[in-house]
Amino acid sequence: MTALAPRKMITIRSGTCDQCATGPVPGECCTKLALPVSQTAADNPDVVGFFALHGVEVRQFGELAIAVLPLRCSALLPNGDCSLYGKPERPQVCSSGPLNAWAGKPLNAHCSYVFEEDEE
Ligand code: SF4
Ligand code: SF4
Repeated sequence: MTALAPRKMITIRSGTCDQCATGPVPGECCTKLALPVSQTAADNPDVVGFFALHGVEVRQFGELAIAVLPLRCSALLPNGDCSLYGKPERPQVCSSGPLNAWAGKPLNAHCSYVFEEDEE
């Protein structure tokens, strides 16, 4: 019998950025910083409590543990526009993101992008 190769899944993003038009926070993804943390830290209530005292929420997206820091980007304008849009100073990650499904609605409740998983 031939062993089947494991299926590789890819994430497909569709839609456009409407700057979170349906929610109360324009440009919600620009108001926080999401950084991976070790699973050991995420599973330790003492560490999670320590982070919480600093306003940092530890969240779990599948196998990925993320620390969410409430840090508003200095380039974000009150209406959700980016003051660096079209300028070379704008980070490439802003132009191409969000690329991961967890960075859409799970993290930013009113993100207008839709993510689906499919086989490669
Ligand atoms: S540079 Fe612009 S797009 Fe990037 S996080 Fe800041 S406000 Fe958002
Ligand atoms: S959370 Fe989604 S819809 Fe809102 S500003 Fe970011 S990319 Fe755009």
